[in-house]
Amino acid sequence: MFKPVSPKVDFPKLEEEILKYWKENKIFEKSLKKEAPYGNWTFLDGPPFITGLPHYGSLLSSIPKDVFPRFKTMQGYKVRRVWGWDCHGLPAENKVEEKLNIKRKKDIENTIGVKKFIDECKLYVSEVSTEWEWYVDHIGRWVDFKNAYKTMDLSYMESVMWVFKQMYDKGLIYKGLRVTLYCPHCATPISNFEVAMDADNYKEIIDPATTYKYELKLKSQNSKVKTYILAWSTTPWNKIVTPALAVNPKLTYVKVRMGTENYILAKDTLKILSKKSHPEQSEGSLNDNNGKDYKILEEFKGEKLVGKKFIPHYDYYVIDKNKKAFEIIGRDFVTAEEGTGVVTIAAYGEEDLKAMKQKSIHIEMHLDEEGTIKRDVPKFGGMYYLKANKYVNEDLQKRGLVYKEYKYSHNVPLCWRCHTRLYYAPQNAWYVNVQILKDKMKKTNKQVNWFPSHFQEGRFLKSLESAPDWNISRNRYFGSPVPVWECECGERFVPGSIKELEEKSGRKIHDLHKPEIDEITIKCKKCGKKTYRVPEVLDSWIEAGSASFGERHYPFIHQNVKDFYPPDFIGEYTGQIRAWFYVLHVIANALELRDDGLNTLSKNVLVEGVILGTDGRKMSKNYGNYPDPKELLQKYGGDALRLYLLGSPVMNAEDILISEEQYRNQIKGMMLILWNSYSFFIMYANTVSWNCDVKLKTDELTILDKWILAKLTKLVLEVNKSLEKFDSITAIRLTEDFIINNFSTWYIRRSRDRVSVSSDNKDRNLALSVIYGVLVTLSKLLAPLTPFIAEEIFKNLTGEESVHLQNYPKGDKKLLDEKLIEDMDFVRKIVKIGHAKRKELGIKVRQPLAEFRIMNYELRITEELLELIKNELNVKKVEFKKGKGELAVEFDSKITDELKNEGEARDIVRKVQEERKRLGTKLDEKINITLMDWPREFEEEIKRRAVVNKIQKGDKFSVERA
Ligand SMILES: [Zn+2]
Ligand SMILES: [Zn+2]
Repeated sequence: MFKPVSPKVDFPKLEEEILKYWKENKIFEKSLKKEAPYGNWTFLDGPPFITGLPHYGSLLSSIPKDVFPRFKTMQGYKVRRVWGWDCHGLPAENKVEEKLNIKRKKDIENTIGVKKFIDECKLYVSEVSTEWEWYVDHIGRWVDFKNAYKTMDLSYMESVMWVFKQMYDKGLIYKGLRVTLYCPHCATPISNFEVAMDADNYKEIIDPATTYKYELKLKSQNSKVKTYILAWSTTPWNKIVTPALAVNPKLTYVKVRMGTENYILAKDTLKILSKKSHPEQSEGSLNDNNGKDYKILEEFKGEKLVGKKFIPHYDYYVIDKNKKAFEIIGRDFVTAEEGTGVVTIAAYGEEDLKAMKQKSIHIEMHLDEEGTIKRDVPKFGGMYYLKANKYVNEDLQKRGLVYKEYKYSHNVPLCWRCHTRLYYAPQNAWYVNVQILKDKMKKTNKQVNWFPSHFQEGRFLKSLESAPDWNISRNRYFGSPVPVWECECGERFVPGSIKELEEKSGRKIHDLHKPEIDEITIKCKKCGKKTYRVPEVLDSWIEAGSASFGERHYPFIHQNVKDFYPPDFIGEYTGQIRAWFYVLHVIANALELRDDGLNTLSKNVLVEGVILGTDGRKMSKNYGNYPDPKELLQKYGGDALRLYLLGSPVMNAEDILISEEQYRNQIKGMMLILWNSYSFFIMYANTVSWNCDVKLKTDELTILDKWILAKLTKLVLEVNKSLEKFDSITAIRLTEDFIINNFSTWYIRRSRDRVSVSSDNKDRNLALSVIYGVLVTLSKLLAPLTPFIAEEIFKNLTGEESVHLQNYPKGDKKLLDEKLIEDMDFVRKIVKIGHAKRKELGIKVRQPLAEFRIMNYELRITEELLELIKNELNVKKVEFKKGKGELAVEFDSKITDELKNEGEARDIVRKVQEERKRLGTKLDEKINITLMDWPREFEEEIKRRAVVNKIQKGDKFSVERA
């Protein structure tokens, strides 16, 4: 006897019971010890930030991180699954700043003290959100929480130190002045890929767009007509320091006379000189040309301008010796598409700084680390750089140095943590030389299996091609230290382990965090002076990119690198292409740990899309545009969420809108239909005391049995194939189609008579055995996808400990019969047309008809299949008529008295069965019925089918227990 199963099921309640069962019986732990003949299969988890609550994005990425390890475990691999926490960086620091009411970065050192600040950061991340475990459990994810690693663990940080050392020794790390995005609130550089990860990190801003006039310095300044170069810019604040202008030597420029002045600009931009063609021009512009005409005086190539001098707007700063200033330089990046074909050059731009270095132009930095104009700058000193915009333009307007100004709207990047507007700033920082790794990175990318595959040649390759050198240092506090001790004499010491640092410093190391690490000094081996560590900490992306080593404390715990590296599988959303995926790949190619050349981010990479709010915007508490994930999990359960997400285009890297309806529909669809099939089986099997020890005899199988087993085999083969490719969408679509359209709608429905108590024993046992076999295989097949319902069904059917300790079905190819599958497709097609025809005739299916004719078709199917058509369409005979036309069907719709009586008998059976259901009688419990009348020749048939003891005549239909 099986545990009785109610057709009414509460999935979340069932899942709670299974969670309890798994914990009490340590099923997860047992699965880790399951026999693994195929060895290790590694997956690397991108650790989430330690505090806060999981959102749909974290649940989404957690689901495939459970599906594929379960699948691989069942296949016979050993899959290590340890949880990790990301601790370092701005998320923690910003929270502590809030808590301690720190408004400016300077206060950390001057008021609070670094030690207290770091202690607070550690305290903050030690308050691990226990909520995570609830979510992770309830989406059915198996992962080792107890032994979770943290990126702030000493062992993890030591592995990161080792990674840095490997790159440093290979000459891949350098210190230099480069331009990066910079947050003036956090006072630290920000990775461009951190900003690019989220569309919310951009904001549309209206800025002044100004065409400035720079007076050309002529050999003889005696001409009354002044000649100005026109240059366009949207950053008035850095016009305070413009030591150069750039033109494109190949572009055509013109000198024009306009009123009493001469202007030089690219020929293609002449339209800016006419007011009419410039709708954006603001009304109050002081220096517009009022529609006056200009006259072209000269036309020449930009190269003629290169080397010429101009009079600067501000010249308060001293020019470095051997450097040039206030000169026009030639650069290919200058175009005539926007502005005037002349660009102002300052240190606050990536291309600008590169040009300045190459052309020996003086580099002047006039902002401090908080974005304030330095005190010694006349007129504007002490102003926040954005505030200075207005005053700079006013000053230049007054001095007649603005040609025109209008409003310009553009998207600007914001800090991903504090949402302060970022700017590009020259930074003295530590960089990974990505340029020299590029060719290798492009080559090794070819060894990666990307899902979907287009990322390989698409977005990932593009991000490799356009990658700047990676700024890996942060002017912050809570992070792994940049492990460099730099002496005044230029000598550096870079330790690769704690032991090495202890030996060199003569001190015991307990913590690698600031401020302790900064107290460690070593003696310079070149000059003998006391040497201090550089002040920066590492970008936490170095830690994310070192996860394979950090989580295993490699190489300090001896392990064969090929056993775990690169991981077999990683998966994250599209935002990680330029972030985590990218840094993993950089580090893999920098370290080149594998001598066989397999130095890639991972062997297989799954890219998911983004789940957006109901209104298509990013999910946000402020917009209220998404249902609470905890509430939905409590309402519909984890299996349904898994089905919903694993079957949706989000697994194909497309964005989707969260939909409670689609989530709920998973229950109404496949899950409930599977459950109904299962409870149907249990009810009949228990009623007739069917025993699963009865061996299925294949030579006794009916055509319907053979067909469902062929379909099941095909399903098993195809689901295996899809999961091997990390294609959960196809796996779910096929399984759903099998359960709903084949197993339930056709096999079980056509087998109802066979399993009923009135059926003969042999056929009933056969049908029950087939249903049993299908359900057991389905539960194994579904185990990685819907672990709860699979467990429930499997345990009850087999009495074994867990479906997750089973081997994954491989499919018995002997059972595959493509011809039969094709023939049954035809049968079902015919039946569908037949039902439509009956509907047209207005004759219900319970009324038997004499004949069904299939026209223009030659009989190709077996007697057994024909019998199925007869039964399904309730006809006495099926005729085929040859012909060349379209397939068509017709019924002999004449209803004889006998047919009419048979139909009536069927109606009675149906009515009685409904009444039995209402009364709740057992399937084999006999009843007595009272009828007004009934066709006597079908009395025995009614009794048999409706399990009736006695029929008596009365003036009202009624059913009572016998
Ligand atoms: Zn910030
Ligand atoms: Zn030295």
